[in-house]
Amino acid sequence: MKKTAVVTGGAGFLGSHLCDKLIAEGIKVICIDNLLTGNIENIEHLMGNENFLFIKHDVTNFIHVPGNVDYILHFASPASPIDYLKFPIQTLKVGSLGTHKALGLAKEKNARFLLASTSEVYGDPVVHPQKEDYWGNVNPIGPRGVYDEAKRFAEAITMAYNRYHCVETRIVRIFNTYGPRMRLNDGRALPAFFGQALKGEDITVFGDGKQTRSFCFVSDLIDGIFRLLMSNEVEPVNIGNPEEITIEEFAKEVVKLTGSKSRIIFTELPEDDPKVRQPDITKAKSILNWEPKISRSKGLEITLNYFKSKLNV
Ligand code: UDP
Repeated sequence: MKKTAVVTGGAGFLGSHLCDKLIAEGIKVICIDNLLTGNIENIEHLMGNENFLFIKHDVTNFIHVPGNVDYILHFASPASPIDYLKFPIQTLKVGSLGTHKALGLAKEKNARFLLASTSEVYGDPVVHPQKEDYWGNVNPIGPRGVYDEAKRFAEAITMAYNRYHCVETRIVRIFNTYGPRMRLNDGRALPAFFGQALKGEDITVFGDGKQTRSFCFVSDLIDGIFRLLMSNEVEPVNIGNPEEITIEEFAKEVVKLTGSKSRIIFTELPEDDPKVRQPDITKAKSILNWEPKISRSKGLEITLNYFKSKLNV
């Protein structure tokens, strides 16, 4: 008998790649998404596949799924800074009420639950690179607090369901990830820079551009998440690419790669923007035997081709 997985947020950037991976691994997928920031185009190729079912539903409300469920992967949430600034209440609700409902479904179905958490639980970190045992530096009332605190609550309730209801749980802390199906207009640096470069517009680096990020290609991330799902590790695991770069250097890389004539301009830094971010992946390496395989140059080339096709350039 095939196993069945529920993926909340399955029409999103990461969720849709996860649906593909699970199906490729011989697992049936029930994708639930309310399409607030997800996009049906991301899963169009799966429609009609006998191992795939799409349910349009907001997971902050009671979730009903017929039949056996073996795995629940909770990926529903606005996830880019402009999305969660646009939908602050929905972001808080899906991280709290949505996680509660998804955990309730896991308990009911006796399914293993995996939470998509985030490097944002570390906030503007004072420990660098970030290890899983660092508790973070989050401003609860700042603009990013709606996402960070929702995910921190989500981790807390996931551990509570594990400890008090004996639900099998996994927590992945996802660092900046990129690749095909990212929305050009999601406001993140990577699609913003590519969009600007391809259209010959100014590239908007926020602040002095000295802040750092570490970008992971989507296939590497999905591989790490699948390994975590199949592992026995209950405590959070960082999955990301430790190769760190400043945002200014990254903007230069995009200009070079696209051959664009765009200028790089410096604009205001958003409030609470983390100054550094880099995963320590020692734990993922040792317990999941995982590390990223796709170099930034390879990953960016693949992603550039995707954005070009979207922009018809
Ligand atoms: N950023 C930028 N220009 C943009 C969008 C973002 O310089 O048009 C900066 C942002 O301030 C942050 C970094 O790039 O320091 C990465 O931002 P992103 O929104 O991609 O993700 P974050 O890691 O902040 O969640």
